[in-house]
Amino acid sequence: MNIATRFFPYFLSLCLILPYTLISAQADVAWETSFETAKARAAEEQKLILLNFSGSDWCAPCIKMKREIFQPEAFSSFAADALILVNADFPRSKKNQPPAEQQLQNEQLAEQYNRKGSFPMTVLLKPDGSILQSWEGLPKMTPAEFVASIRPFLAKEDKRSGALEVFNRTLLLMGSRFVISVVGSDQELADEQIDAAIAEIQRIEHLISSWDETSQTSEINRQAGIQPVKVDAELLGLIKRARKVSELTQGAFDITFGSIDEKIWHFDGTMTALPDSNLARQAVRLINYRNIILDEEAQTVFLKEKGMRIGFGAIGKGYAAEKAKALLQQAGVADGIVNAGGDLAVWGHQPDGSPWTIGIANPDSKLEAFSYLEVSNTAVVTSGNYEKYVEIGGKRYTHIIDPRTGYPVSGLKSVTIICPNAELADALATSVFVLGKDVGLDLINQLQGIHCILVDDAGAISTSKQIEIN
Ligand code: ADP
Ligand code: MG
Repeated sequence: MNIATRFFPYFLSLCLILPYTLISAQADVAWETSFETAKARAAEEQKLILLNFSGSDWCAPCIKMKREIFQPEAFSSFAADALILVNADFPRSKKNQPPAEQQLQNEQLAEQYNRKGSFPMTVLLKPDGSILQSWEGLPKMTPAEFVASIRPFLAKEDKRSGALEVFNRTLLLMGSRFVISVVGSDQELADEQIDAAIAEIQRIEHLISSWDETSQTSEINRQAGIQPVKVDAELLGLIKRARKVSELTQGAFDITFGSIDEKIWHFDGTMTALPDSNLARQAVRLINYRNIILDEEAQTVFLKEKGMRIGFGAIGKGYAAEKAKALLQQAGVADGIVNAGGDLAVWGHQPDGSPWTIGIANPDSKLEAFSYLEVSNTAVVTSGNYEKYVEIGGKRYTHIIDPRTGYPVSGLKSVTIICPNAELADALATSVFVLGKDVGLDLINQLQGIHCILVDDAGAISTSKQIEIN
């Protein structure tokens, strides 16, 4: 779909209500004063909008900017081809005030694009009004340099206007298979976007991995019972939200499960007998989210007891999927899927405009789906007993631990959560796994906008109240 057809109906309706108001602020550069007209023209002419906030009768740098950047030929000839220029002027003198209607529009523009009230302030916008770039104050650039800083955005917009397709990349991240899919029309641009998403996921992995000895999470674990550790606000926030889920689930979800997981249970195939029950009992004492002490002011995390450990195995992939999605959306990807080892963050649509179709894995045969969902803006996350487990004496012990007993939970084969946020979905999938079918569904039924599909050990499928599956 090209930009023109995408915005065409919108453009038409605007034309009916808005006459063109082209005003020439300076002889050589035409400045638009109506933002709505600017958007409509940008869409129709496939241009970008450059919105400039100025104070024409009091702001010296604004006047300088007009003279030294906007008026010279290097800028004005480029702008004539590629930009719709909009001036939101805030003069001080009474006699210079624009019509009331325009003052109102300019105030609204400032509210949206210039909250801090900087003068001058220049914002590069897509035809739909979303921000591509902004410059606060008078850019310390020549007109040619200023043009050069705008050009890359035009190239991207051009590439976006071809036929849409899905670009995928599959790779191992956070110990799991990730598939990143973006809808676009240009392989090179899609590659850049996917590279950026991967870098973001690797950054998160380095922050939250309890296997990476240099991560802040590992430092928190090493300092358990010793001293608080200063961490990034981001990590503190994640821990805080994890604790909220613990409260909501009365401790079924607990990131301090790591106190037992890494010492007592090994899901790497090395275990041949059940753990010593004394050891397990001692370790289970250390699982308690209430003993994670957060100091928001000092931005520190302290695990109260020696031997305590936290781990983000049950929430980290969902968090990473959500953050990668946010980054891609910011980079202009309107439609895509981040599949983080089966935890999906989905937004927008398929290239033909239809919703995405998501398969829910059959717990008995992971590569087949037992059900399909049509979704557009949501997360679909599945926890399964088939993901990681040990078999001892013919019985399967899965990697999800009941914090009350220190033993792997049984009863369910898989839990799928559907809700807007992948991080929450991830945490809740693990929670319902621990809570079991009845208590788990009861919890989900009380939460607005959150749905659940589960398969029990006997293979029976149950769902929360507001969902029907085919
Ligand atoms: P998957 O998507 O791999 O099936 P989950 O999201 O269910 O995994 O998370 C399982 C992981 O969560 C385990 O490998 C472990 O690291 C961690 N974990 C196990 N039990 C709990 C628990 N009760 N609370 C929080 N995290 C847990
Ligand atoms: Mg989970």
